[in-house]
Amino acid sequence: MDQQILNDVLRQEIREGKIPLSLGKTCPVECTFCYEKDHSYRPTVDVPRTTEQQWQNILEEIKRIPTRPGHSWLLGGNEYMEWTDIFLHPRVMDWLQEFLDTTDKSVTFFTVGFVQPERIHRLAERYPGRISFELSVITLGEYRKKLLPHGPTVRQLMKILDGPAVTSANFYSFGPNTMSEDAQTISRINKNCLLWMGCLTPLKYIDRETSHLMRQGRHYLAEESRKIYYADLPNTQMLHTEPYISTFLARNKILKTFDACELEKNDHVVVSGCVYRILQTFRRHRARFLYVPNDTLGGDSDCSTLLTFNDISKRLTHETRVYIPKVIMEHPSRGERDISGVTFDEFKSWFPRTRFRILHKVNTQVSNKKLYEKGYLKNYVEDYLGNPLHKKVEAVPLPN
Ligand code: SF4
Repeated sequence: MDQQILNDVLRQEIREGKIPLSLGKTCPVECTFCYEKDHSYRPTVDVPRTTEQQWQNILEEIKRIPTRPGHSWLLGGNEYMEWTDIFLHPRVMDWLQEFLDTTDKSVTFFTVGFVQPERIHRLAERYPGRISFELSVITLGEYRKKLLPHGPTVRQLMKILDGPAVTSANFYSFGPNTMSEDAQTISRINKNCLLWMGCLTPLKYIDRETSHLMRQGRHYLAEESRKIYYADLPNTQMLHTEPYISTFLARNKILKTFDACELEKNDHVVVSGCVYRILQTFRRHRARFLYVPNDTLGGDSDCSTLLTFNDISKRLTHETRVYIPKVIMEHPSRGERDISGVTFDEFKSWFPRTRFRILHKVNTQVSNKKLYEKGYLKNYVEDYLGNPLHKKVEAVPLPN
C-alpha cells in the first residue's frame, strides 16, 4: 500500500479519536451477525497489520493532542479501516499498556473476548476510571456456536467477567431463556458491569438462519425482558436496540422537536418508519411526512440516523421543498456526509429543481440524549409494554 495513503488514513482516524490499529482485512472471527464487514455502503482501505514502528508513530501523534476531560480514545474502532477484534493482534495488550503508562488519556474498546483476562484486570486495577471495556458477549447459550463459529469459549468470557475490567456486557434475545438466562449468569459473576441488552437487527446481507434467530429474539423480547425485570438484578440494565421502542418512549421529545421546526402543512419532511408512525398518530396534518425506508442497509432496519441520501433519492418524485433531519448527515469527520460518505452537496446536485432544508433541531445530540434517558429496561417494561398506546402507534400503516 502507498505509504502516503496509509499515513493519511491513520491521521484521519486519529483526528476522529481512534487509535488506528489494524489486523488487515478481513476480520478472521467471521461472526454471522457482524455489522462491520465491508459490505459496500462504506468503502474502507486495506490497511496492513500494524507494525511496531507504526505503533510508535501513532502513539507519538496521539501524545501531541491535548487531553480533553471526558474524552476517551477508541481502540481499533475505525471509520476508514474495516473493524475487527483488535485483541487478536499479538502486540495489542503491550501497546494498550504503553498507552495507559505513557499518556493521561482514557481508552474505550469492544471485543468479543480475545483479551487476556489476567492482564486486563491488572490494568483496570492500576488505571481505575481510564478504561471503558465493552464486552460483546452476544449470547452464552445454545446459539453461540452458530453466531460466533470462531469466537472465544464461554469459559474465557467467564474469566473476563470475573474481575474489575468489564464496564458493560452486551447480549441479546434470540428466543426463550436466552437474554434472561445470560443476564442472570453475568450478574452472578459481576454485579457492577452494565447489562446492555435488546435484539440484533437483520440487515440485507445477514444470512437467513441468523436473520431468523434475530427475528425470533424480537418475538421473545417482551417475555425475556419481564423475566429480567422481576429478577431484580443489582446491575444497571439498558435496552437500546429497537427504534420502534426508543421512538415510542421518546415520543414527547420527538413531537416537541418537530413542533419547534415551524413546518408548513405542505412541506415534505423525510422520516424513517418509526418516526413516521409517531407523527402520523399525533401530528397527522402538521406537514407531509415522507417515509423513507432504510434501503441501503435493508432487512428490518428502521432508523433515521442510518438513512442515506441514496435512500431519500429513491422516494423523491416532484416535491419542491424537502426538509431533511440533520441526524442523517452527521458523519464523524463532519462535512455533512451520510453513513455511505455521500455529501449533502452531491445529493442536492441530483435534484436541481428541489429546495432542500436541514432540520437542525433533529440531530444526533438530541436523539442520543433521549436514547440514554429512556434506554433502561425498566422504561421498556413499565412505559412501553405497560402502555397499550404503543399498539395503536405500531398499527399505523407505512406508505408503499
Ligand atoms: S469479531 Fe467483531 S468485527 Fe470480527 S466478525 Fe465478529 S463482530 Fe465482526
